Amino acid sequence: MSSQPVRVRYAPSPTGEPHVGNIRTALFNWLFARRHGGAFIVRIEDTDRDRYIPGAVEAILESLHWLGLDWDEGPTGQAQESHGRHAPYFQSQRLPLYHEAAQQLVSGGHAYRCYCSPQRLEELRKQQAQEKRPPGYDRRCRDLTDAQRREMETQGTPSVVRFRVPQEGHSAVNDLVRGEVTWQNNLLDDFVILKSDGFPTYHLASVVDDHHMGISHVMRAEEWLPSTPRHLLLYQAFGWEPPLFAHLPMILGPDRAKLSKRHGATSVLAYREQGFLPEALFNFLVLLGWSLDDRTEVMSRETVVQHFSLERITKAGAIFNSEKLLWLNGVYIRQLAPEDLANRLVPLLERPASQGGLPDEVARPVDRDYLRRIVPLVQERLKALAEGAELTSFFFVERLEYDPALLVQKGMDREGTLRGLQRVLAAVEALASFDLTSLEAAIRPLVEELGVKAGQLFGAIRVATTGRTAAPPLFQTMEVLGRERCLRKLREAVAKLEATKA
Ligand code: GLU
Ligand code: ZN
Repeated sequence: MSSQPVRVRYAPSPTGEPHVGNIRTALFNWLFARRHGGAFIVRIEDTDRDRYIPGAVEAILESLHWLGLDWDEGPTGQAQESHGRHAPYFQSQRLPLYHEAAQQLVSGGHAYRCYCSPQRLEELRKQQAQEKRPPGYDRRCRDLTDAQRREMETQGTPSVVRFRVPQEGHSAVNDLVRGEVTWQNNLLDDFVILKSDGFPTYHLASVVDDHHMGISHVMRAEEWLPSTPRHLLLYQAFGWEPPLFAHLPMILGPDRAKLSKRHGATSVLAYREQGFLPEALFNFLVLLGWSLDDRTEVMSRETVVQHFSLERITKAGAIFNSEKLLWLNGVYIRQLAPEDLANRLVPLLERPASQGGLPDEVARPVDRDYLRRIVPLVQERLKALAEGAELTSFFFVERLEYDPALLVQKGMDREGTLRGLQRVLAAVEALASFDLTSLEAAIRPLVEELGVKAGQLFGAIRVATTGRTAAPPLFQTMEVLGRERCLRKLREAVAKLEATKA
């Protein structure tokens, strides 16, 4: 590694909500910076004005924030402001720097103005396609005479600036993940560095900024590898030392095709909505291309920061396995203190029912103390926080909706069930204190008294008190529901059964 201080950057384009694959790049850069006590920089690459989506910058920053990826330099989150010694960190605010750089290349003969119209380039593309030749600019303006250039300028012909790619030699990088990669220069197009609207292209802006911001390592997705020879040529033309490069492996769906929405992979904020914990997504993303050893899957943030190394980044594509994410989420949910889990559930439970919250009849805000007592009963079974509403709704609703036939257990009839529930009701009414031990002491002996099986009696009580055939352990559930709710529900069950009497 170079002896320079570690300075890495995450350079998203604000073209939408960041996708998990994109955030993996941010995460690896962040980990590398934290591992080496370096700086993690966020730079907004907003030079493609056609693809700019309002709100995208906010979504990017919110995603980083939610995952706990703090940045040392970059946007402040306030409007288009930045902080850090190389501010601004929005490329749209750095245009003079790119103009100056482009001018420097033109003066040095490394770049030239191209006056070809979009129509001409389009025709060229068509012709090349027809003749089955590779597409690319034919370098028509590469060697215009000064007189020809002056004429174009006096006519006010719009122009772009193109890089004069050397026709011989090759460009090579010793990629920290992929090893030595070489490209023949004559296969590269004279690419545009400054557009006719005065905005730089990605290539120019990226190189100029990485240089001026003192970036030591460029860590980015593998899809940017083909841009690297262009960047190397730019560094050379400027006479600047290039940073080190590390291209991160592709993220693939289970079918080994490049990850896309079709695989269910979505934006980071959508995972938050679905009730994934940031700890779980963090752990999951770490494993997309990096490993601690050959087996460890569950790793704390501290462990990863301590051990993160470029050597253990894989070359092979990383498979995005949603089931593993769900499993990890369950692991992290079970590790939470009930109080913490309750606090995280609250915003999801309080959403409208149509968005996955508790039924609308349940008063908001949700009773926090009550929720804290419910949580330990469902914690084991929760895989995503969004399931919380479904798993806990019976604790909250006033009247349970269920088919009375569910009360009647296998091997029982309506009369026997009715008698049983009436007996349970009397026993519960007579309880002096309503806790787990007293409940069990009062109800369990009824099994023998009524001459039924425990499963039959408890099954009927379960449906009566929860409206479901599957629920958390019965006596604990009853204890948390409390005397009033239990009595009301038992009475309702008795009434339902009576109403079915022909
Ligand atoms: N703006 C590019 C992107 O959206 C950055 C690529 C790079 O890191 O150089 O991914
Ligand atoms: Zn041209």
